Amino acid sequence: MMASNGKESCGINGDMSSTSFKGNGEVFANKSHSVRVNGAAAAADSCQSKSLNGDVKKRTERFTFSGEPTVEDIRRMQAEFTDERDWNQFHQPRNLLLAMVGEVGEVAELFQWRGEVTEGLPDWTESEREHLAHELSDVMIYLVELAEKCHVDLPQAVLRKMALNRQKYPASKVHGSAKKYTEYKD
Ligand SMILES: [Mg+2]
Repeated sequence: MMASNGKESCGINGDMSSTSFKGNGEVFANKSHSVRVNGAAAAADSCQSKSLNGDVKKRTERFTFSGEPTVEDIRRMQAEFTDERDWNQFHQPRNLLLAMVGEVGEVAELFQWRGEVTEGLPDWTESEREHLAHELSDVMIYLVELAEKCHVDLPQAVLRKMALNRQKYPASKVHGSAKKYTEYKD
């Protein structure tokens, strides 16, 4: 399932309160408020759609990330970490791939036997949330390092892939459907 963060669907993000204009004549009032996640403040978007006649309806509410560190920051920090330990000799692409898959397994273990989990993990303890944050970070760190060692410029590759996904899954054609692109007929 393709997911976008609140920035894309809600326009300008990061301000405590901002308004942006969409091409369809709607005005989006975008208010952010702080929530506590794993003991740290994080921003969540409450995105409202305000039509020109003044009606306001809530469109979506999305969790959003901090702007930093960037993917390049993460690549550089991990490169420094491995250089300081002389671990580059072990960090070939295949090893990094296997390490990443192992970390994905550690993420899966946290969800194992729980049944479906509600967005935001309201039933999880702070300790469980922090454990998840650690394991997701392990996955991302290895993913970024794997991309580096394969000379894939990951942020730019993501842009290209998302453009392809948009072509493959035109919103007008697939809205509300979970079918694979091969199952759609013109
Ligand atoms: Mg781990």
